Amino acid sequence: MTMTTYKPRRVNDITPQKKVESQRGGGTAGCVLANRLTEDPEISVLLLEKGKPSFTWSSRVPLLSCNFRTNTLCNIFNSVPQKQLGGKAVKIITGCGLGGSSRINAMLYTRGLPCQFDAWSEEGRKGWSYEELLPYFLKSERALDETKNGAVHSVTGLWKNRSFKSYFKTTDSNPVEPIYGVAKASYTIDEHSHRSDTASAFLSSQEERHNLHICVDALVSKIVLNSSKGVSAKGVSVERYSQKSDLVEILAKREIIICAGTIGSPQLLMLSGIGPRDHLLGLGIDVRKDLPGVGSNLRDHACIPVSFNVPIKDSLENTMNSSFSALGQLLEYITTGDGAFRAPIHEVHLWAKTDMLLFQSKKILDERPSDTEDPQTSVIPDIEILATSFGDLGKSDKGGFSLWAVPVKPQSRGVVRLTTVNPRDPPACNLNLFGDPRDRLAARVALRLCLRIKEQMATNGYPITDNIVPKGDMDAALDSFVVERGRSLYHYCSSCRMAPEHDTLAPGVVNDELRVHGVSNLRIADASVFPDILSTHLQATVVAVAEKCADMVKKARNPLA
Ligand SMILES: Cc1cc2nc3c(=O)[nH]c(=O)nc-3n(C[C@H](O)[C@H](O)[C@H](O)COP(=O)(O)OP(=O)(O)OC[C@H]3O[C@@H](n4cnc5c(N)ncnc54)[C@H](O)[C@@H]3O)c2cc1C
Repeated sequence: MTMTTYKPRRVNDITPQKKVESQRGGGTAGCVLANRLTEDPEISVLLLEKGKPSFTWSSRVPLLSCNFRTNTLCNIFNSVPQKQLGGKAVKIITGCGLGGSSRINAMLYTRGLPCQFDAWSEEGRKGWSYEELLPYFLKSERALDETKNGAVHSVTGLWKNRSFKSYFKTTDSNPVEPIYGVAKASYTIDEHSHRSDTASAFLSSQEERHNLHICVDALVSKIVLNSSKGVSAKGVSVERYSQKSDLVEILAKREIIICAGTIGSPQLLMLSGIGPRDHLLGLGIDVRKDLPGVGSNLRDHACIPVSFNVPIKDSLENTMNSSFSALGQLLEYITTGDGAFRAPIHEVHLWAKTDMLLFQSKKILDERPSDTEDPQTSVIPDIEILATSFGDLGKSDKGGFSLWAVPVKPQSRGVVRLTTVNPRDPPACNLNLFGDPRDRLAARVALRLCLRIKEQMATNGYPITDNIVPKGDMDAALDSFVVERGRSLYHYCSSCRMAPEHDTLAPGVVNDELRVHGVSNLRIADASVFPDILSTHLQATVVAVAEKCADMVKKARNPLA
């Protein structure tokens, strides 16, 4: 699909001094906001996105669009060396194009447990309890599975999800109570087996809206600030992303909402003089608002893949390494919407909790929370195992199968800082994976569980053998496997967290209405504002945050509505 099929009017050239009401970056959250705000004909929106739309056929095919090697919608760079991973850098990957990371992600639709949002609310985030957020989850969702529970799922939204037939005894992957066991994955996929990303769901199916302007290949290099009565945002400086061009200043009549993602949003704030004073001064940036929280609380999930050999017919290597098989699978996908090309990379989730497993991860104990934890949040699973039908995807005649061990309740906190004042240079991202020793404990238990699952599969007669696995299940062997294989699951969040400016846990950047502390007319709505990382995948909550932000903007304009 190309941009010409888009109904909303597109601004091809960046027009100097063009006045619009609000502007933002066009990723997962940005597309939702653009749609919801322009439902009101009185609000005009300019959506600015540095990437291109690139709506090709393959960008909608689940398997192909998850492939970073061929995907032009990815922005990939190295993290700073990770101390706890032997000094190696890990890949930082984000989406870059209309729809942002929802165009390249693994399409899992999971919301997180109600008690996690209630914990946000109990920490003082007014309006962010589960009960208050549920309407926004429901507003966007169109669940295509008839079996889904009507109280917690909706069938009327724009953003489609569904699951596939499962061979396991599974449960809904969006439970309202914690589950420990295997959950059937729900994917953001439509009835034609195409990826349902937020650009196609929220932008392309709309009636023509003259109040929505979309500008792609537009890199926002700075927020233009006014200092006459306190600091306020008045516009943005924009340049072409694909090639160096002149800077254009675009003014906002009302406000600016940044949706540049967990890495992009703090980068843009710091480039604009909003951030930790000493860091900005060190780069010669004029400090407009000293806000220590900007970029200071980067959270992520680590992932440690354990890989096994299985018969090639059972694995994606069959499709990837043999043109004959790929052609057959492709034909099946085109004609029936089924087969390997339909499936995103993960088939099922397994959720577990470290203190329910004995040393060898062999037995599940009873479900009582340990005494040391808050009884409400202690029920949250802290381990996820993602079953993946490929190994290392190298050229091989063997089939691969991997279990990705993910400690989903990490304590480690990292940081995003500028390296230069050039907006094209990636910032320095220290994910600080396993920086907190508690995360290593969960990793060990998760790895043991992966080894036990494989043992059980072999005992049951399935021809599975070790490929890249820890050398034993003692702590030292597991720890060195973490160092060797640990990487990011790309769940960056909380780098501009919603919390008071001087919060003792980690300083905040936005208030409960997502307004940047000390800067008027400026909000942030994306994964960077999460007060804390969720023990699940993030995109459903990012969309709910955008839905809620749109509501807050509309209510601020018209409090009686
Ligand atoms: C590879 C991968 C797999 C994932 N798998 C899953 C999954 O299966 N399930 C799940 O729930 N979550 C998953 N996630 C996480 C989830 O996709 C993200 O958390 C979510 O999409 C982030 O949304 P966002 O709006 O915060 O940022 P993004 O969607 O990343 O949007 C930010 C946008 O801003 C643009 N931008 C940045 N800076 C500028 C600038 N200066 N000027 C103009 N534009 C700018 C970017 O190009 C981008 O389009 C995955 C993420 C990745 C990267």
